[in-house]
Amino acid sequence: MYILYMGTVLIIGAGGVGSVTAHKCAMNSNVFTKIHLASRTITKPDAIKKDIRKRWGVNIQTHTVNADKVQEITALIKKTNTEVVINVALPYQDLVIMDACLKTGVHYIDTANYEPRDEAHFEYSWQWAYRSRFKKKGIMAVLGVGFDPGVTNAYIAYLLKKYFDKVRFVDILDANAGSHGKSFATNFNPEINIREVTQEVKHFNKGKWIKTPPIMDPRSAHFTFNYPVAGPKESYLLFHEEMESLAKNILGLERLRFWMTFGENYLTHLRVMESIGISRIDPVMFEGRPIIPIQFLKALLPDPASLATGYSGKAVIGCIVTGVKNGKESTKYIYNVTDHAKCFREVGSQAISYTAGVPPVIAAMMIMKGIWKGAGVFNVEELDPVPFLKELAKNGLPYKIVNYKPLPAELDLPRKK
Ligand code: NDP
Repeated sequence: MYILYMGTVLIIGAGGVGSVTAHKCAMNSNVFTKIHLASRTITKPDAIKKDIRKRWGVNIQTHTVNADKVQEITALIKKTNTEVVINVALPYQDLVIMDACLKTGVHYIDTANYEPRDEAHFEYSWQWAYRSRFKKKGIMAVLGVGFDPGVTNAYIAYLLKKYFDKVRFVDILDANAGSHGKSFATNFNPEINIREVTQEVKHFNKGKWIKTPPIMDPRSAHFTFNYPVAGPKESYLLFHEEMESLAKNILGLERLRFWMTFGENYLTHLRVMESIGISRIDPVMFEGRPIIPIQFLKALLPDPASLATGYSGKAVIGCIVTGVKNGKESTKYIYNVTDHAKCFREVGSQAISYTAGVPPVIAAMMIMKGIWKGAGVFNVEELDPVPFLKELAKNGLPYKIVNYKPLPAELDLPRKK
């Protein structure tokens, strides 16, 4: 029997994703009886607080915090009597916030794995290293509970639980078929986004990681996929963070690939940025002081939250999974379609912030209600996907499952120049 538990949540980060997270917590105020929202400065949290009061009649508390400082977060957790922290600041803050959770004995949730500032490189090892300390303290850290990573991990776990004894092949497909009307903009934090998509590409095949050229390279692997509702879109092979944990946790997995849609205009901008050095992450001297070009670029690009007004079209994210049950092989496609304009009407945000901002709320709900329990550090595929997906569907992110055919093996081969 589950014990029904309600309590206090602290959301750190008040950007595009943090805003959705705060709205959804307020829409579930029977579970989240006290909601605190903190960010580096008070302007964004206060604007969100005002909107939440207007839309949902719920009063949330706002705070400033420097999430690079353990003492500041620890003090805020204590002051607010927080039980679960949702970290939707930036990946640079993950370890510091986990340290604060350990010090205060509260649960931790995030949507993106740790990245050091001076290296465009993300991996789970830094956070997995906290396992024994979280276990000893009797608290949970759930890593990467956005849409991808997050819901995609739960989709695979769900198909494995309901339809297969073993999963052989997975293709994760992420399409943003929306239009924001800007010549170039990223749908989440530009610095993190550009660091992610300019990386060397890897996919998993028969126990090995195979490297292929980055998406701006003319030899990059890509193909046209016909997305439900959104139609045909050019989809590029990319390395994405859920691949690391899925390759470890889905036993017997033979092939794992991640595809994301990019338009020619986006790729041209990326190529130019890279060629002139404005996306560099190392310091360069400017008028006698060091600046990091990508941080300057971030200041020039549109704030992802600001794209929401007038954004049209859909985001379609899902997984094509081939598995075996009682010796019989079959393929299923599980996916979600989210409409940008509908998200804007509901919470004033675009679909990418929405699809990333709702799942951590449901994860916090799973912990508070005692449905997800345990002590240690977890990735989403290690936890029960059934109640999670059910609650997600009730909160704006339903899924659909259809019979499908496996994607061809040779799609991941680099193109000839
Ligand atoms: P934004 O840049 O819009 O928001 C980040 C927020 O964190 C801002 O409010 C920012 O404050 C605050 N912040 C940054 N540094 C600190 C700090 N040191 N102390 C306190 N607050 C800080 O980013 P997004 O909302 O677009 O993305 C948030 C996170 O969500 C990112 O980690 C991103 O990778 C992740 N994400 C995950 C997805 C998934 O599906 N798994 C998809 C999309 C995003 P300020 O405005 O003052 O800088």
